[in-house]
Amino acid sequence: MLLQEILKHNEQFVENKEYVPYEATKMPQKRMVIVSCMDARLIELLPKALDLHNGDAKILKTAGGTITHPFGSIMRSIVTAVYELNAEEIYVIGHHGCGMSQSNPKGTLQKILDRGVASQEILSALEYAGIDLHKWLFGFDNVIDSIKGNIELVRNHPLIPKDIPVHGLAIAPDTGKLDVIVDGYKELSLNVN
Ligand SMILES: [Zn+2]
Repeated sequence: MLLQEILKHNEQFVENKEYVPYEATKMPQKRMVIVSCMDARLIELLPKALDLHNGDAKILKTAGGTITHPFGSIMRSIVTAVYELNAEEIYVIGHHGCGMSQSNPKGTLQKILDRGVASQEILSALEYAGIDLHKWLFGFDNVIDSIKGNIELVRNHPLIPKDIPVHGLAIAPDTGKLDVIVDGYKELSLNVN
């Protein structure tokens, strides 16, 4: 059982004081907040590829690294990181080969039906109540456009300071190579001029 394995490891981890190399404060040392994808290939690769260590950054993970709502929990976390945790830069880091770029809301809904979790009547009732499940489950067509869209959402957010750089990067989930999609410093200087 996975939980038992985890707990067994955890007991040893704490007993052997394996946590010592990871001791840090809650304030991010590099004063940055990152929004990225929940892709399992990025668990260790993303921080290693960016030279981030424990305590360096606030990292928010979501399917596709997308901010789906200007007043949802991701945006709430960014606002908290900026005002309460001294984050001075925001990074939106999508990745090539993201599952959300080929997301298939129809297929997901079919699986929900097949598992007997909800009936077609319930799905129809939700749609009737104005909940667009296809839209809700849909990711994006193209990761670059998605990153740019997220950056627009953050930059135009009424609660985000106008002088904070918002960067957009795309990471390769195999090599960790970063492509700069939006250089937040450049965008800021463009706005000043
Ligand atoms: Zn992804």
